[in-house]
Amino acid sequence: MANAFFNVPTAVNEPVRPYVPGSAEAESLLNTYRSMMHEIADIPMTIGGKDVFTDAKEEIRPPHQREHLLGHFHRGQAEHVTQAIDAALAAREKWSRMPWESRAAIFLKAADLLAGPFRDRMNAATMLCQSKNAFQAEIDAACEMADFFRFNVQYMTEIYKGQPESAPGIWNRMEYRPLEGFVFALSPFNFTSIAANLTASPVLMGNVAVWKPANTQIYSAQVIMEVFKAAGLPDGVVNLVFVSGPVAGEVIFSHPDFAGLHYTGSTSVFKGLWKKIGNQIDTFKAYPRIVGETGGKDFVVVHPSTPPQEVVTALSRGAFEFQGQKCSAASRAYLPSSLWPAIKEGIIKDVSSFKMGRPDDLSNFINAVIDKKAFDKIASYIDHAKSSPDAEIIVGGGYDDSEGYFIEPTVVVTSDPRYKSMVEEIFGPVLTIYVYEDADWHRTLELVDSTSEYALTGAIFSKDRYAAEEATRILENAAGNFYINDKPTGAVVGQQPFGGARGSGTNDKAGSYLNLLRWVNARTIKETLVPPTDYRYPFLG
Ligand code: NAD
Repeated sequence: MANAFFNVPTAVNEPVRPYVPGSAEAESLLNTYRSMMHEIADIPMTIGGKDVFTDAKEEIRPPHQREHLLGHFHRGQAEHVTQAIDAALAAREKWSRMPWESRAAIFLKAADLLAGPFRDRMNAATMLCQSKNAFQAEIDAACEMADFFRFNVQYMTEIYKGQPESAPGIWNRMEYRPLEGFVFALSPFNFTSIAANLTASPVLMGNVAVWKPANTQIYSAQVIMEVFKAAGLPDGVVNLVFVSGPVAGEVIFSHPDFAGLHYTGSTSVFKGLWKKIGNQIDTFKAYPRIVGETGGKDFVVVHPSTPPQEVVTALSRGAFEFQGQKCSAASRAYLPSSLWPAIKEGIIKDVSSFKMGRPDDLSNFINAVIDKKAFDKIASYIDHAKSSPDAEIIVGGGYDDSEGYFIEPTVVVTSDPRYKSMVEEIFGPVLTIYVYEDADWHRTLELVDSTSEYALTGAIFSKDRYAAEEATRILENAAGNFYINDKPTGAVVGQQPFGGARGSGTNDKAGSYLNLLRWVNARTIKETLVPPTDYRYPFLG
C-alpha cells in the first residue's frame, strides 16, 4: 500500500565506455567474449517462466566465423505460441495490479544490472551473434538498453501525473490501464536494445507479452531474459518463443485477446502484418494497437557552403558503422559538384583505411553482415552497380563469405538520381552518391523528398543558415529524425526520440512518452461529491 507520491531517480544517459585497447574494461569484455565463445549454448524458449526444449534444435554461428558453433536454440511450433499466450494471460491479473513503483523498481534494477554485472555478457553476446564491434555493442546493448529502461520509468510517471481538471463539487481522475489482453513483440536482428524495449515498454506499463525475436538475435535475446529474471520480473510476464514469423502470426492474430503489436523490422513484413490484423478485426475484443518502426533510405544532402571534411566523416561513420545495418544508416547522398573532388578524395581515403574482420580484434572498424540472405542481397546490389551504365563503384565492391559474411564498404556514384540503390533499402555497407550542380540546390531538395517511400532519418549539411532553413522546410516530411550538420545515425534515448513516418513506420518514437502512451488505455473517473436529489433544472421554473 503506497502512502506517498514517489519520485523516481532522474534518468541520465549511461556513459559510453571507450574500450581503449589494453584498458581493464577492454580486457574484461574480451575475456567474456572468449569464454562465451568456448561454451556451447543450449537456448530454450521461456514460457510461463519455464525453460521449454524441443527436438528441433537449430545452430547459432557468429556471422564473422561461420565454422564456429556458438550453440543451438530450440525451435517451437504453433502449440508453443498458444502456450505463451496462455501463460501471459495467466500472469496478467497479478502483473496489471502490481503497483507502478514496483514495476519501476524492476526496470531500474534491470538498468543497473546491465550497466554493471551483465554489461560484458550483454555486449559480448551482441558482438558474437550480431557481429558488432565493441563500441557498436556498447552503445546499443549496454547504454541504449539501460537508457530505455531508466527513461521509460521517468516517462511512465509523467504520464501518470497527467490528470484532468475538476469543477467544484466533483473530482475527476484519469487512470492509465494496461491493454486488455496481451502484446505481441516482434523484433529485428540489428539492435539488442530495440529487441529488449519492444517487450519492456508495454510490460513497464502493466502489460504482458509474447516475444518473438529474429533467429539471428536469439543468442543475445537469451541474455536479455537473464537480466529480466535477475531484476525480478515475474514469470509469465514476458514469454519468449522461437517460431517462424508466419506461424506466430497465424496463432496470435486469431486470438481474441490480442491487444497490440510492437514491431520493428522491414516495411514489407509490417504491411503484411497490418493487413492480417485488419482482416481478423472481428476476432478481437478491442481494436489492437499497432506500433511499427520499419525501413529507411536515409539521406545526407550537402549545401556548397559546407567544409568537405565534415561531410567525409559523417558519411564514413553514418554509412558504414555496423556494416550499414542500422535503420538510420546514410545510404544515399547528394553532394554539390564544387565539393565533390575534395569529398571524393576524402571518402576513398577513409574507406580504404577501414579494417574489416572479427569483433574481438578491436582494430576492426567493420565486421560481418548478419547472414547469408543479407550477404546475397547486398552482393546483388553491388553486382548491379558493376554492370550498370548509370553507376560506378569508386571504392570497395568486393565480398567474400568463405570465413564470414564480409562485404567491403562500397561507394557507388550514379548519374541517375533514381538509380536502384538511391531508392531501395539495401541494409548493408553500400552508399550511393549523386552529384548535383551547385545551382540546383533547391531542385535537389525536392528530389530528396520525392525519391523514396521511406522517411526515417536524414541529414543536411550547411554553413549557410538560409539554406539550412530552406532544407528543413522542404524536407519537413522526409524524415522523422532530422539532423543538421551531423550524421543521420546515433539517436540517443531521452535526447532524440526515434522513429520515422511515411513507409518507415507509425512514428511512435521509441524511448519517449509517445511510445508508452500506445500501451495504456485511459479510464476517466468522475466522482460527484454530493449528488443532486431533484431532477428539475432551474430553467424548468
Ligand atoms: P525482418 O522484417 O526480416 O524481421 C523482423 C521480425 O519479423 C523478425 O522477428 C522476423 O522473424 C519477423 N518476421 C519476418 N517475416 C514475418 C512474417 N511473415 N510474419 C511474422 N513475422 C515475420 O527485419 P530484420 O532483417 O530483422 O531487420 C532489419 C529491418 O528492420 C530493416 O528494414 C530496418 O530498416 C528495420 N529496422 C527499423 C528500425 C526503426 O526504428 N525504424 C530499427 C531497426 C531495424
